[in-house]
Amino acid sequence: MKEEAALLPVEDARARTLALTSPLPSEWVRLEEALGRALAVDVRAQRTLPPWDNSAMDGFAVRSADLSAPPPVRLQVRETLYAGQTPREEVRPGTCARIMTGAPLPAGADAVVMRERTRLEPDGSAVDILEPVGPGNFVRPRGEDAREGEVLLARGTPLGIPELGLLVSQGMVSVPVPRRPRVAILSTGDELCRADAPLEGRIVDANAPALSLAVLRAGGVPSVLGIARDTLEDVSAHLAAAEGYDLVLTSAGMSVGEHDFVREALKRQGVEQDFWRVAIKPGKPLAVGRKGSTVYFGLPGNPTSSLVSFELFVRPALRRMLGHMDVEPPKVGGRLAGELKKAPGLAHYVRVTASWEDGELWARPLSTQTSGALRSAASATHLLHFPLSFSRLATGDKVELLPLSWRA
Ligand code: AMP
Ligand code: MG
Repeated sequence: MKEEAALLPVEDARARTLALTSPLPSEWVRLEEALGRALAVDVRAQRTLPPWDNSAMDGFAVRSADLSAPPPVRLQVRETLYAGQTPREEVRPGTCARIMTGAPLPAGADAVVMRERTRLEPDGSAVDILEPVGPGNFVRPRGEDAREGEVLLARGTPLGIPELGLLVSQGMVSVPVPRRPRVAILSTGDELCRADAPLEGRIVDANAPALSLAVLRAGGVPSVLGIARDTLEDVSAHLAAAEGYDLVLTSAGMSVGEHDFVREALKRQGVEQDFWRVAIKPGKPLAVGRKGSTVYFGLPGNPTSSLVSFELFVRPALRRMLGHMDVEPPKVGGRLAGELKKAPGLAHYVRVTASWEDGELWARPLSTQTSGALRSAASATHLLHFPLSFSRLATGDKVELLPLSWRA
């Protein structure tokens, strides 16, 4: 089909979208508020951790060379070291120290023998070591976690719980992260009303609340700008109120219908269109453009289409603005349970439920795939990528599955 030939493949559309976006200026936030955000800078270690060689086990700190004789080898016990204590004595040949997990290794010792491999005299003065160990056995070396000056976490690293623990152990209380993108959300359509308004022949605007939550979950700050009527004037007036946001999401009015004014209104607003229409189902009539530093998404109107577009294009853009090094939608490998057919020319993103059976993730397409039906999006766990050039997928075929960020 000639018309389809002009459509932009999904990967190109995403690459062009990402090329319009960059990490936002950073702000310092307290560590406990930084969970899930990405570092704006490389963080270097200010402390070497652990600060000293220490024991990974409860047992005995020994000179491994003392254990070369056939076991058992008897050693004199000179002191007991608990975590938080400083060793007083050097371990000399023929001697050892009792040591607990986390206690610093005394000078002279180069290994730890776990308690279970020893027999302690009842008075505690000597111990029989029942097996030889090599140097470094059960020793956590100084600097294993961090060496002063080295890059501990690179810019763009998402801060999970261990990362935040690492930063705390460096004495940090706050970190610089790109600020949260401010996102304006505008629904368009004469048929729409708010959920709390009398219906009077209209349908409830489902896109603004759904997109708003999707933005929130992706780390942005949503502002709902209301519902614009299907006139150039009203869409333009609402778009004027969206000036100054980092991202603007409109929904509906993107096709070539007589009441589809969004593209024209964007143009009048001075938004430079980067592309319009993607080789994808659902979500073909997507447009992306820019004005100054604001990126505009004209999302399709069907509630499921707009969520799929969010997942494939908007969320990556938000993640780029939030400074994440990894912005592409995550994917996992699976197998198709069922049969899928289509004409080549559009990539399909099929709503599926996927579950593990016999060591494989099996994806079952949901029976409803119409983009107007939110219900099938509600039970889907993944989107199955049915590539643009393919026309058929059969049971057992390897497929790419995108876990959905919408899920509870
Ligand atoms: P359009 O792109 O304007 O032709 O809209 C496509 C379909 O999506 C139509 O059936 C609209 O009624 C529906 N639609 C558009 N916007 C919304 C919305 N915010 N909430 C629910 N349905 C919508
Ligand atoms: Mg419409």
